[in-house]
Order: sequence, then structure tokens, then C-alpha cells
Amino acid sequence: MDLKIFDRMESQVRGYIRSFPVIFKQAKGSVLIDENNKEYIDFFSGAGTLNYGHNNPLLKQKLIEYLESDGVVHGLDMATTAKKYFLETFERVLLKPRNWRYSLQFTGPTGTNAVEAALKLARQVKGRANVVSFTHGFHGVSAGSLAATANAKFRGAAGFPLANTTFMPYDGYMGPDVNTMAYFERMLEDPSSGLDKPAAVIVETVQGEGGVNVAGRNWLKELERLCRRHDMLLIVDDIQVGCGRTGNFFSFDALGIRPDIITLSKSLSGFGLPMSLVLMKPELDIWKPGAHSGTFRGNNLAFVTAAQALDSYWTDDGFAAAIQRKERLVRDWLENIVHSYPQAGLSVRGRGLIQGLVLPTGGDAANRIARAAFEEGVVIETSGAQDEVLKVLPALTIEDDRLMRGLEIIERSLGRVLARTDASARVLKMGGKSR
Ligand SMILES: *Cc1c(COP(=O)(O)O)cnc(C)c1O
Repeated sequence: MDLKIFDRMESQVRGYIRSFPVIFKQAKGSVLIDENNKEYIDFFSGAGTLNYGHNNPLLKQKLIEYLESDGVVHGLDMATTAKKYFLETFERVLLKPRNWRYSLQFTGPTGTNAVEAALKLARQVKGRANVVSFTHGFHGVSAGSLAATANAKFRGAAGFPLANTTFMPYDGYMGPDVNTMAYFERMLEDPSSGLDKPAAVIVETVQGEGGVNVAGRNWLKELERLCRRHDMLLIVDDIQVGCGRTGNFFSFDALGIRPDIITLSKSLSGFGLPMSLVLMKPELDIWKPGAHSGTFRGNNLAFVTAAQALDSYWTDDGFAAAIQRKERLVRDWLENIVHSYPQAGLSVRGRGLIQGLVLPTGGDAANRIARAAFEEGVVIETSGAQDEVLKVLPALTIEDDRLMRGLEIIERSLGRVLARTDASARVLKMGGKSR
């Protein structure tokens, strides 16, 4: 496929095109189709943006009707019929059944816009600059969010000092036997620990970019308790693992915590349209009118599909049950792979339909498996500090047979990559006597 125009015109900053060097022309459900009509099973889902699949027919129908009726497309933050429909649906489907009260702030359309607003608000509310984030956390790449993002590559591109954030070890960071929350607690309780009193803590319940690291229920409950005790706001960044990814709409639904602030984006519109949202407990809403703005806070097309997605998938427990069933299929399959290659040092971790197959670091094996799988028709990405985790992120709506076919391809790709690695290891042992 001729990618010359992209090479010639696009900045070097381009990323995913390098992992998937074809030209995609169509997409439907869990299938991507390139310009040679080759089909790929999508196990990446736009990094968690396409939880309901590509061009979901229920959402597309609603969108077409809205466009046909000359509904308002861009509305700054003015009141529109579409926005009203979204607010009513959000309240009816998500807030009322949980007996929650949150104020909604629509921000600029990308995830990092929501994180920026959340951090800004928390700092204003508490009158303190410092925020705690966690090792391997990812919160976006604009200045404020980037300061709370741990990844060295992204931080290195900032060009100025990233300040006012302290990193604490995430759950499991020091191995399974160390309770990292005890360390955080000690830092907070010792007035001379050197930790400036934080306004807030920002956390992902499952770190999507950071390597599919899963925070335990007790760890999160302990974090919430610390936040209450030390007057810090708890911000859950649910941008990647919210909107059903872990089995319920919010990733913390089954974990018994109640964040002060929640950020949502990626799959919120349900259709891949940009849309971001900050939920804040009403008493935190100290914003002055217009104090935070943005031209694209009113993506009305996204309001329409977002509301329809809530109505189509979240008015009863059927969808959650289907996700949990598929989680079992994926998890069993991956655990079988781990057992089939006892020498390979593999493990599995994840929640819901974000599952990571963890490979030993150093050999670039996860990237090689992803490349091999792509050749065989599966789009899958790696994550983690050293790209050591193969991240299985199918649409929540994926058909069982397609899901299984994708997993088969991954297993085959893994088998081939590991066989090659074994063969080259043998050659090295023999004194490098390869041809
Ligand atoms: C993707 C992501 C962001 C940033 O969203 P963008 O739309 O890329 O700005 C923030 N937080 C988490 C957890 C994410 O996965």
C-alpha cells in the first residue's frame, strides 16, 4: 500500500500508523478494512474509544436522523435540544439509579481537556498546587495532564519542567507483598516527609496505557479513606476504562468508592466522536461563569450518540452481563496460553474487557507478537513502560466467534514469535554459529 503521502507530509510525531502501516478505508463493528480489502479484527478499539464497535448501527441511525433534521452541530456551550437529550438521559440512566448527584462540566473534546479542568478545579477548591498521581499513570499530554503522566517519553517531549505533581507507587509497584498505600499514608502523616500537602489524588482504577495494572479493591478503598482523612479530593480518571470497559459503566461501580471528581471521554460518545466530561460533586462546583472555556465544548453530534448509547446499552443489566461473559472467554483463553508456555514467563492481568498478556521485558516480544498478529489480520497494541504488555481491548459488542478467531490468531502469533526466540537462543548458546 502506498503510504508515501503520509511520509512526505505528516510530521514525524505520527505514531500508530507505524504500528499498522496500511490505509484503512472502512470499518464496521469489530472489523477494519484496508484499501486492499483485507479485513482485520479490531482488538484495539481506538485505545478504548470504540466500546460499541465501529459505525454502530443504532448510533449511526440516530446521528443520520439528527443531521437530516438540520439539528445544531456546533453550539459552544449554549443550550440545544441534543444537549438537553444527553443531560436527561445521563441523569435517568446513570445518576438516578445510583442515587448520585454530580454536576456536569463539558470541556474541550479530548480526554486531556477533561483532566486539565478536573485538576484546575481541585486546585482552586483546596487552594493548594500539589497533586498526587501514580507511577505508570497516564492522563494526557497537555501541560497540566502531562505533569501527572508518568511516562518518560511523553514527559521528555514537554520542553519545560513539569511541576506540582508528586508520584506515589501504584498498587503492586513494589511487588505483591508491599502495601504501597502504607507508604503514601506515612508520607502524609509525617509533616517533614517532604510531600507538599496535595489538593487531590488522580488515579486510574486500571492503568490502560501504563501496562494494564489493576488496582485492588482494598487499595482503592484505602486511598479513598486517606483522601477523606487528609482533605484531598479523589479524582478517578475513567477516560479509558470507564464506559463499560471493566463490565459496569463506571470502572469503580463494583469497588465501593465514590470519587469527588470523575473524568470521562474516549467511549463516552460511543461513536468515536470527540467528547469529554467532568463530573464533580455539586459542592465542589466553585467555577465562576465562563472561567474555563473551549470552542468545542458542544459537540452536539456526540451528545446525540452518547445519549443513544446510554439508552441502548445501559438501561438494564443485560449488557454488563454480556461483557462479564466475554471477559471469562478472554481470560480463560489467555490463562490457557500462559499454561501452554510454562517456560516463557507469561502472566495475565486485567478487568473486564481490558486484559493484558504480560511478556518478559527486554526482548520486545510483545511488539513482535503484535506485528505478527497484524500480518494475520488482528489490530492489537502493546502497553506498559517497556511495551511488555499485549493489550487485548476488543469492542464490548464483539461477536463471540470473531472474538475467538482473534484470540486464535494471537495465540498462533505468540507461538511463532516464541519459537523464533527459542531458536535464536539455541543458536547463541552454540556460540553464535548461525548462517
Ligand atoms: C487517553 C487517556 C487520556 C487522554 O485523552 P486524550 O483524548 O488522548 O487527550 C487521559 N486519561 C486516560 C486514562 C486515558 O486513557
